[in-house]
Amino acid sequence: MTTKALIAATPWSADKAKAGMVDFATAGRGTLGGRSVRVIAEQLLRGGPRRQAIRVEVDGPADFAAADVHLRTDGGSSVPVEGVDGPAGSLRLLVPAVDAPTTLRLAIPALDADATIGLTVEPVREWTIHLVHHSHLDIGYTDPQGTVLAEHVAFLDSCLDLVRQTADRPDDAKFRWAVESLWSFEQWVAARSPERVAEFVEYVRAGQIELTALPYNLHTDTCSTDELHELLRLARTVRDTYGVEFTSAMQTDVPGTVAGLPDALAQIGVRYLSVAHNWAGRSVPHLNGGQHLPRLFRWRSPAGNSVLVWMTDSPHGLAYMEGSVLGFDTSYEEVDGMLPAYLTALATKPYPFPPGMFGWHGDAVHDREPYPWDVLHLRVQGMFGDNAPPRLIMADTVARWNETWLYPRLRLSRNEDFFRDAEERLAGQIREFEGDWGDWWVEASGAVPARSP
Ligand SMILES: [Zn+2]
Repeated sequence: MTTKALIAATPWSADKAKAGMVDFATAGRGTLGGRSVRVIAEQLLRGGPRRQAIRVEVDGPADFAAADVHLRTDGGSSVPVEGVDGPAGSLRLLVPAVDAPTTLRLAIPALDADATIGLTVEPVREWTIHLVHHSHLDIGYTDPQGTVLAEHVAFLDSCLDLVRQTADRPDDAKFRWAVESLWSFEQWVAARSPERVAEFVEYVRAGQIELTALPYNLHTDTCSTDELHELLRLARTVRDTYGVEFTSAMQTDVPGTVAGLPDALAQIGVRYLSVAHNWAGRSVPHLNGGQHLPRLFRWRSPAGNSVLVWMTDSPHGLAYMEGSVLGFDTSYEEVDGMLPAYLTALATKPYPFPPGMFGWHGDAVHDREPYPWDVLHLRVQGMFGDNAPPRLIMADTVARWNETWLYPRLRLSRNEDFFRDAEERLAGQIREFEGDWGDWWVEASGAVPARSP
């Protein structure tokens, strides 16, 4: 028998935060026949005659069917409803898709002959979600360095297996991988045969595996200008050795980066930067209006170079764990329960999660615009943690999802795939920012505590 370990209470809880996120997506609630009923607005579209989904959760036994649920417009017209099984025993109602907010009244006469519950159905966006599968390299924080190195070398072997294994799948569901830290590729090359390396590079050229330009996740504010540019030495060597071009860079789990980074990246033609900053309690962003930085923006350096930036920011310390919180490393059913509500929350609230999510110990944020677009970059990892392995489950989920739903459309992507798509769709809408994006953790670098007398 396994018992739960005795652990200290923490100020955050992923389960509570997920429940809060689903609350954000709640379109109506009430009591019918003494049983509490909740209606969740889902960003889900079924094809054919377009229908969108509403999730109905009723406390107690499932002693009624979709045919027992009646929906009427304000004018009293009956709304045609098809019922399908929803997540975790709920009922999912498919109703004709709306193109403007529409208020409805829901009744379940089998439970209550008189009472109804009001709800507002919002239009569903035609989302494309680029799932960027990667592993956050963190040397020595979760395990000794040698263990972490061995893991990352093994991960790249798994990538070859998974590319082969999904070769016959629809393009969106083919395994893809972004090598977040180029140092792990260098270590892998040193330990593998030239034939195996050649196969890997072939997949890079074919767009199934992405090599990104930075060697690891450094606190770039500690670099001199020369050192900052030297960070790209490995990328230059790989480019010259294998003839592959670098278009993107990733930075994960540090709180910011120095203003000269776009200049260094521009030297080898990198146009895209994907960051998942660890704000660790919102320290600096909170004080400097950082919540007003959009997820997608152009960042221009004082010298005039620029990169298109995606900032995974949902919110604060959570960052690169977002895909895990939504269940992409767990099961199709978990994604089915979380993703449609997450998209509703993202499209309507400042952040899709409430305070209490991992890393967020502060107050709620109210003065931030909800996410405005229908193309999304979503980091996914093989588990909730650093140094997570590549997994087949994401490709399985994408295949099943796209067979079931018209939108959101899921796709396993490289960072480059997302950025090219976003640039094409959003030309003219992307705001530009200038200035320092400093990493406040470096304030203690090189400091030594004063000795008490
Ligand atoms: Zn880390």
